[in-house]
Amino acid sequence: MLAENLQKVSGNIEAALAKRTGKMQSGDSVCLVAVTKNHPAEIISEIEALGVVNIGENRVQEAREKQEHIGHPGHWHLIGHLQTNKAKQAVGLFDMIESADSEHLLRALDKESAKLDKVTEVLLQINVAREPQKTGFLPEEYEAVLDKIDELPHIKIRGIMVIAPNTPDESVIHSVFHKGYEYFCDLKERMEDIDYLSMGMSGDYEIAVEEGANMVRVGSALFGARDYGNRGY
Ligand SMILES: *Cc1c(COP(=O)(O)O)cnc(C)c1O
Repeated sequence: MLAENLQKVSGNIEAALAKRTGKMQSGDSVCLVAVTKNHPAEIISEIEALGVVNIGENRVQEAREKQEHIGHPGHWHLIGHLQTNKAKQAVGLFDMIESADSEHLLRALDKESAKLDKVTEVLLQINVAREPQKTGFLPEEYEAVLDKIDELPHIKIRGIMVIAPNTPDESVIHSVFHKGYEYFCDLKERMEDIDYLSMGMSGDYEIAVEEGANMVRVGSALFGARDYGNRGY
């Protein structure tokens, strides 16, 4: 089942790439982050056996419990909001923090990474649609924080993360992802090593890829619906 789901998702990504109209060079590929939150740790080994190396989790505590169970295979991405007081744990558990959403948090990540003598890879999450219930930098906050990045040598900004509004109106989703792509292109001109535009989940990853995403975060389309009552460990 998992293998079939993966094949389907990969096929859909290829089809969406083919729909892109000259936005990126041909031969571009999309990095799949398998979102394993609220599923048992064992599925991480299963998806990795199928060749997927990027694992997405949205909570520090859950990632820690899973790593106690199965170790730290592959590349772990934090995709959920991170409280500053958990920055220390997060830099030890994750290879990339996709959900950096405040200057305060960036400073904490820098400080804790310095203590571990590492440089943590970070995506800046932008709340493109300005949804009040969502985290992420508002566009003006994002602009302001870019000037501060040079002061933080133990984090490395690698790109941008965007979550689209939960709406059946695909034109809204297209427009939000298109804006995300514009932010990405702009950031590429301003900074070195900007390589990732993380947009799209199970419901909208095809639109995201069409609009220029090169990293998608897919959970339920691979693993089925999440059972919040039983995480299986
Ligand atoms: C849960 C989650 C996903 C994956 O959601 P699915 O709809 O199951 O694919 C992607 N991104 C973020 C930020 C999430 O919290």
